[in-house]
Amino acid sequence: MTDVAKRSSRAPVPSGWEYAPAPEARDIVRIEERYGLYVDGQWLEAKEHYTTISPSSEEPLAEIAQAGPEEVATAVAAAREAAENGWAEISPTERAKYLFRIARILQERSREFAVLESLNGGKPIRESRDVDLPLAAAHFFYYAGWADKLEYAFPNRRPRPVGVAGQIIPWNFPLLMLAWKIAPALAAGNTVVLKPAETTPLTALLFCDVVRQAELPPGVVNIVTGDGRTGAELVRSEVDKIAFTGSTEVGKAIQRELAGTGKRLTLELGGKAANILFDDCALDQAIEGIVNGIYFNQGHVCCAGSRLLVQESIYEQAVAKLKRRLKTLRVGDPLDKNTDVGAINSKQQLEKIRELVEAGEAEGAEIYQPPCRLPEKGYWFAPTVFTNVAQSYRIAQEEIFGPVLSVLTFRTPEEAIEKANNTPYGLSAGVWTEKGSRILWMAQRLRAGVIWANTYNRFDPSSPFGGYKESGFGREGGRHGLEPYLEFE
Ligand code: NAD
Ligand code: MN
Repeated sequence: MTDVAKRSSRAPVPSGWEYAPAPEARDIVRIEERYGLYVDGQWLEAKEHYTTISPSSEEPLAEIAQAGPEEVATAVAAAREAAENGWAEISPTERAKYLFRIARILQERSREFAVLESLNGGKPIRESRDVDLPLAAAHFFYYAGWADKLEYAFPNRRPRPVGVAGQIIPWNFPLLMLAWKIAPALAAGNTVVLKPAETTPLTALLFCDVVRQAELPPGVVNIVTGDGRTGAELVRSEVDKIAFTGSTEVGKAIQRELAGTGKRLTLELGGKAANILFDDCALDQAIEGIVNGIYFNQGHVCCAGSRLLVQESIYEQAVAKLKRRLKTLRVGDPLDKNTDVGAINSKQQLEKIRELVEAGEAEGAEIYQPPCRLPEKGYWFAPTVFTNVAQSYRIAQEEIFGPVLSVLTFRTPEEAIEKANNTPYGLSAGVWTEKGSRILWMAQRLRAGVIWANTYNRFDPSSPFGGYKESGFGREGGRHGLEPYLEFE
């Protein structure tokens, strides 16, 4: 026997991989005890406050202003003043410089923002660090590039800014949604009043410091915090345009409110995307895509691949592989660099997920959850797969917005299309097949704004994103994303 063989026989191959905790240091972020509203380049003290917490520990983090009608009106007036006396008149190349500056500062301070995002929102640091922050900076870089090229983006159409944009964003990608809203608005010469979601205001408030650092003229970016009441005030206020991302229910209410007012509106609402697996797909890669599609950001993703459509001939194999992969997902501390699935964003959202999962069990679907120990404090939900799902079940129809996948089957491509389109939504879809011709055939028939082929949840600022049907209207990203912020002659 050789030495090598002897040594290897003494060292058994470990049966499992145990990771030591790898927590990201928290001390890079400084959180104020109490925040005001960022209006006209200054902090405005508010009358009412509420407490924002960390959903992974329920630890209180800061007191946040609940802006009322007068405070919203003050912010809109500041934005109006800045729009009419300065920002739109500033030379487009100068405007571009401010946006480039913001992008660079976000890059420089990305670790600080990533830690704060995970702390306040519950998403794994790996995602906030590697996805949210790079994409937010990329968005500002991308739109900075358009700021002085609008005449080329829309030749012979004389683009002009709309004026003041009121922007309302959700809690699933707090800073990234801020970037999606603010970057194109500013590039097009508008000023903004943005309201972050009530559970995740902290990165938007830290962004005010970036605005100050970039020396943006006062009133160009105003941030007002508060819950839905503040959002409703912003909708009613003297803005020229509303951009909303959130639930279909609130989106519909806003559309009703704005009907006949002449204010512009774009809506990015929910989804119930189909991720479609054909029997000729590269199955192991597809399993990774499915996992990324639904467990990324705890499934708090409007374009999440929440319905898996598997071709019948590979159903058993696919489900077995998927369950095995689920066992390796690490659920826990969002600030641990090894964590795959973090905390559910809020108690309300956890209750909603629980209600729909109970409905799935009651309606007759078969539930699978890998063994995992969930922390005692905070809001948690184990990665979940439902098999034996009928199309009529609530878990196949309604947006769960949690780490819950419903598996259905199909036999022919026609049947896959019919099932995939059988939803009131139409935001995104995924197709997994070896055949390019089939990808194109499917893409022409799927009623969804974004279709990924042999990948999922890929984003790029140059690519327009938005929905069909109840997923909303208007596009964000790309040249298309400028249009809602421009008037044409
Ligand atoms: P929501 O629509 O109530 O909240 C989104 C934003 O709208 C928040 O900033 C909120 O304060 C604001 N808002 C609430 N009521 C408003 C009103 N009447 N007028 C103006 N603004 C208002 O969403 P939610 O209650 O946090 O979540 C409920 C469900 O919505 C989720 O379970 C999920 O299915 C869906 N959702 C989708 C997205 C998405 O990205 N498309 C984001 C968040 C939630
Ligand atoms: Mn709501």
